[in-house]
Amino acid sequence: MSDEQEKKGAKTAHCVVCGRSLPIRQMHEIHELRPALQAMIAEQVGDIDDQSLICERDER
Ligand SMILES: [Zn+2]
Repeated sequence: MSDEQEKKGAKTAHCVVCGRSLPIRQMHEIHELRPALQAMIAEQVGDIDDQSLICERDER
């Protein structure tokens, strides 16, 4: 699993926390985050999976 998605950078996705649509490169996949943070987000939004993305703002 060394899949660095460095494609066009024009792709956007929805942040599962705040719902905003942002460029994927400004976001982080949920499984990249610290376990404590993942748990917090799971509690907030309820429904997440490995594909879920969050924006940099919600990362702290
Ligand atoms: Zn967000």
